[in-house]
Amino acid sequence: MQNAALIFLLAVAPAFAQRPADAARVDVDATDAPRRLIHVHLTLPAAPGPLTLLYPKWIPGEHGPTGPIADLVNLRFNAGGQQVAWKRDNVDLFAFHVTVPAGAKALDAAFDFISPPDAGGFSSGSSMTPDIAVLSWNQFVLYPQGVPADQLRYQARLKLPPGWQYGTALPVARSRNAELEFRAVSLVTLIDSPVLSGTHFKNIDLGTFDGAPHYLHIAADEDRQIAETADWVERQKKLLAEAGALFGVRHYSSYHFLLALSDFVANFGLEHHESSDDRLPARTFTDQAALDLNADMLSHEYVHSWNGKYRRPEGLVFGNYNEPMLGDLLWVYEGLTEYLGDVLATRAGLGSPERFHDWIARDAALIEQAPGRKWRTLEDTAVSAQILYDSRDDYSSYRRGVDFYPEGALLWFDVDTLIRQQSHGARSLDDFCKAFFGGTGGEPGVKPYTRANLVAALAAVQPYDWETFFAQRVDSLGSHTPREGLTNAGWKLVFTDRRTPFWTAAEDDRKIAEMPFSLGITVKNDGGVKDVAMGSPAQKAGVTPGSTITFVDGHAFSLEGLREAVASATSADDPIELTAKNAGTVKTFTIEYHGGEKYPRLERDASKPDLIDAIIKPRVKP
Ligand SMILES: [Zn+2]
Repeated sequence: MQNAALIFLLAVAPAFAQRPADAARVDVDATDAPRRLIHVHLTLPAAPGPLTLLYPKWIPGEHGPTGPIADLVNLRFNAGGQQVAWKRDNVDLFAFHVTVPAGAKALDAAFDFISPPDAGGFSSGSSMTPDIAVLSWNQFVLYPQGVPADQLRYQARLKLPPGWQYGTALPVARSRNAELEFRAVSLVTLIDSPVLSGTHFKNIDLGTFDGAPHYLHIAADEDRQIAETADWVERQKKLLAEAGALFGVRHYSSYHFLLALSDFVANFGLEHHESSDDRLPARTFTDQAALDLNADMLSHEYVHSWNGKYRRPEGLVFGNYNEPMLGDLLWVYEGLTEYLGDVLATRAGLGSPERFHDWIARDAALIEQAPGRKWRTLEDTAVSAQILYDSRDDYSSYRRGVDFYPEGALLWFDVDTLIRQQSHGARSLDDFCKAFFGGTGGEPGVKPYTRANLVAALAAVQPYDWETFFAQRVDSLGSHTPREGLTNAGWKLVFTDRRTPFWTAAEDDRKIAEMPFSLGITVKNDGGVKDVAMGSPAQKAGVTPGSTITFVDGHAFSLEGLREAVASATSADDPIELTAKNAGTVKTFTIEYHGGEKYPRLERDASKPDLIDAIIKPRVKP
C-alpha cells in the first residue's frame, strides 16, 4: 500500500527490533469453526526486553472501536521454550505487556477466538455456522505497538475443516486439500483480505475487465439457497462494466465478492480494496422481494473500493488499528457510496427504475419528517457514527441514527441534479467521479482528501459555491430539506394510502408495520412497539416505544388488523383504540386520527425534464 499519511507516524515511532523483512507467522486452525471456535498461533519476530502487543480495535469500514476483544480467550506467550507472563494494560484493554526473555529472537503467542452466536452486529457478530465461516484476520492477530501497520509483514496459514472450499483476495502461495499457505503481505493487506469458506459453495468467474479478473464466491447453509443465480450473475457482470464506465480506472489487481447467504450469520456488508464481505438472508435467491430489497448491497460495497478505500477522508487514514478514526466526512464516504451503489445497481439492471424511485421516496420522506434534524446536524451523525450504529429503534427520528447514509445519498442526488441543471445537461456527477476517483489504478492505494479537496474537485467539474452548499446542508440545522434533488429532477414526493413494493419488502423483511406518517408507530408482528414518531397522533395519545399492543379496537392484535383499523377510521367518527401493555401496566389509548394510511412515493412533474431517467440510464451498450 502507498500511504502518504504514514510518513509522519514513522518519524515518531519508537525503535522496535522487528526488521521489515521479518514476517510474523499466523497459523489459524479453523477446523472447529462449525463449533464457533478458532485456534490461533502467532510467531512474532522480537528482541529481548519489554514489548507491548495490540489487538486490533478500530476496524476499517465499521467506523468504530468494534474489535471483539472480549472473545479472545486462553492467551499464552512463549519464547525459547519458556512461558512468558503477560499483563493487560489497565487503561487500554486491547494492549498486552510482556517482557521477551534474554536470547529470544521470536515470541510465540497462542489464543482461541470465540465467534458469537447472535446474528446481529458486524464482522465481530456471528460469522460461523456448521456450514459457513467468514474469517476476518483482525480477529486472529496481535501486532507490536509503535510500528505502522503497513510496515509489518505477516505470513498466514489456514486450516479449514476437511472438504470446505474458500474464496479470498489474499494471494495463495500453495494449498493442499483444506490447508492453505498464503504469501507474506503487510498487516494492512492481511486485515483487508477476509476469507469466506464453507461446505455449500460456488465459485463463479465474472470475467476480466480492464485487465483485472473478477470472482464471485458464494457460501450458504444449503445448496438450494445458491441454486438459481444465472440471470443475476449476468447483471452482476453488467455492474462491473458500468463501474468501469463511471470511474474509468480500477484500483485493484483482482476483485472478489465474498457472498454468505445465511440467517445465522450477521447480515451486513463490509468493504475492502480487492474484495467485499457481503452477507445476505438465506432466501435472497429464492425470494424475488428479498433480492430486490438488497439489490444495491454488493454494488454499495464494490463502490467503496474507489470511495472509502482508495479516496479516503484524511481522518479515516490510519497508521494502525488502535488509534481512533475520525468520521466527520462519512456523509461522503458512506453517503456518496449509498447513492452511487443504487445508481450503478439500477444501470446494471440489478434494481428496476421503480425501485430507484421508491428508494428515493422512502429516504426523502423519512429524513424530512425527522425531528432530530432540528437539533443534530448531518455532520454530527457522521462524527457520532461509532455510537449511532448501535443506537436503539425507540424515538429514532428524534435521536437520529446513521443518517449520513440516507441523507448523505440524497445530498449527492442534489449535487448530481444541480450539476446537470447548471451545465444544461452537459455534465453530471459522473464527470466528478471520473476525475476524483481516477489515477493510475491496477493495485490498491490510498489517496486521502479533505473537505477543501472535495469542494475544489466539484468546482473543477461545475463552477458553483459548493462550500456554502455543503455548509448549509451538512453543518446547519434542518434548514435545507433533501427535496431539492427531486424538484430539480422533475419529480414530487407525495403520500398515498398504498405502500410501494419497496416499502412493503422493507416491512416484510423486518416483520413489522411501519406507519410513521399516519398513526406514527412502527410495530412488530407480535405487537411490540419498536418506535413512536414524536408529535404523531400515537405519541400525543401516550403510546410508548417498548410497550406491546394487545388489542386494536377491541380485537386481538395483528399487523393486518392494525392497518385495517387505520384505514377504516377515515370514514368513521370513532377514534382508534389501542390497548397496550407497558412494563407492569395495561392501558387503552384513544387516538383521534382519521387521515388513513400514508406512504411516500414519487410523482412525475411533467413540466420539467426527467433527470432520474438520465441518471439511471445504462452507460454501457449491451
Ligand atoms: Zn458502506
